[in-house]
Amino acid sequence: MQIKQQIIPKSRKTQRPGIAMIPQFITIHSTGNPSSTAQNEADYVCKNSVRQASFHFVCDEKQVIQVIPTNEIAWHAGDGGSGTGNRKSIAIEICESGNRKAAVDNAVQLTKQLMDECKIQPGNVFQHHHWSGKNCPRILRDNKYIKDRIDWKYFTAKIREEEEEMTQEQFNKMMENYLASRAQKAPHDWSEEDRKWAEKNGIIQGDPDGEKRYQSFITREEAAAMLHRTIK
Ligand SMILES: [Zn+2]
Repeated sequence: MQIKQQIIPKSRKTQRPGIAMIPQFITIHSTGNPSSTAQNEADYVCKNSVRQASFHFVCDEKQVIQVIPTNEIAWHAGDGGSGTGNRKSIAIEICESGNRKAAVDNAVQLTKQLMDECKIQPGNVFQHHHWSGKNCPRILRDNKYIKDRIDWKYFTAKIREEEEEMTQEQFNKMMENYLASRAQKAPHDWSEEDRKWAEKNGIIQGDPDGEKRYQSFITREEAAAMLHRTIK
């Protein structure tokens, strides 16, 4: 997925402390602001905020913006300067504005990508609430803010989903290609006399249906019989 980079300048130490991190967890937040977009949130931490608070990524219905590299900490978990949430987790903020499903689905996509890149299991993806007891992400955990039944259960089920399942049609096509790649398209001319002889003597079976090309393979049983009869 496309991730816009708008990294906070190193000089803004309060928002980007620059402390190294090896991420082991992902923490999900929602902004607590029903009208701000991802761009608003990114601009705020990059330029105006004086609060000791930030995040790594912010998603809305349209895009994902990264503001801190994933090998540095952000202050977001509310569990203190040496807390595991702050020191070992990547923070994703979900905007509360716009199309809820689109925003949450962008966060799902991003979470799956980070799980993959950083080798993080779905069981290590937590709500902000897990670290500090705060009612966050309220849009996924608080009935007052949940819309269209898109809640924490929806989110966690989605991040565990495998990539799209193969349709029956795709499966058939794949099998057909596989068999065709293994099968001889047609018997070679040079073997015609041998084949006729072998068929007549019951060593190989003819292929009754030219369409089923893979059936023209000689079996190990047939090969053994042919060799045996040749050398005996
Ligand atoms: Zn939060």
